[in-house]
Amino acid sequence: MVFDILTIFPEIFRSPLSESLIKKALDKGVLQVRIWNLRDFTEDKHRTTDDYPYGGGAGMVMKADPIFRAVEEIKANNPDARTLLLTPQGERFHQGLARGLSEQKHWILICGRYEGLDERVRLGVVDREISIGDYVLNGGEIPALVFLEVISRYVPGFLGSEQSVEEETFSDGLLEYPQYTRPPVIRGMEVPEILLSGNHAEIKRWRRRESLKRTYLRRPDLLERADLSEEDLEYLAELKSQKARE
Ligand code: SAH
Repeated sequence: MVFDILTIFPEIFRSPLSESLIKKALDKGVLQVRIWNLRDFTEDKHRTTDDYPYGGGAGMVMKADPIFRAVEEIKANNPDARTLLLTPQGERFHQGLARGLSEQKHWILICGRYEGLDERVRLGVVDREISIGDYVLNGGEIPALVFLEVISRYVPGFLGSEQSVEEETFSDGLLEYPQYTRPPVIRGMEVPEILLSGNHAEIKRWRRRESLKRTYLRRPDLLERADLSEEDLEYLAELKSQKARE
């Protein structure tokens, strides 16, 4: 998987790319990330990447030209790369969308700053627009890192063999069951007995039910789209009637 990231603040990426799983994936070559400084694609003495908005108003707007040049240079060698703009106006990012977008093996990520970018970038070179949530950040760098990290988890060889992106919260449309590790008692709180039983079938059943209960109580909206069995539906009906009785 290859990411080319266009930004005016390349230093922001230094630490997140030099620790933990992302660092390992970069070292193994499972992941390739190149950070491009948009100032290197300017042609004026002051290396200007932003300018005043036509029509007036507060703030600055990122100029289109440096972004066009950077995208054209990358695409000249990588014609299959797709361009993605991080913007609060984009499609809202979620796990299912990430899984789909991970099929595309080369992304050019455009990080906005200030009031955003000249509309002609969107019209001219952008293939997808993604928002990481309904709030506004100062720039697209952190959203680009969120995108990179979520997508990378689908890249074969990124996660250790013992981990699986398929068993986690959201992967089947549900929140994950509660987890425990040693010791068995902390401040009077015990680990549920079933987890110490060694009965794998019963543990699996308990986890599924906890997952359903958690989702029902915290994110009932997720249940509408979740992949549910007959047994799941029966348990949910039980939970609902329990709640009605309370
Ligand atoms: N004035 C713009 C917001 C600019 S925020 C508007 O109202 O749409 C500056 C930059 O931060 C944006 O260009 C975008 O790249 C990034 N950004 C801010 N919030 C974001 C979000 N929720 N998701 C993705 N990118 C975001």
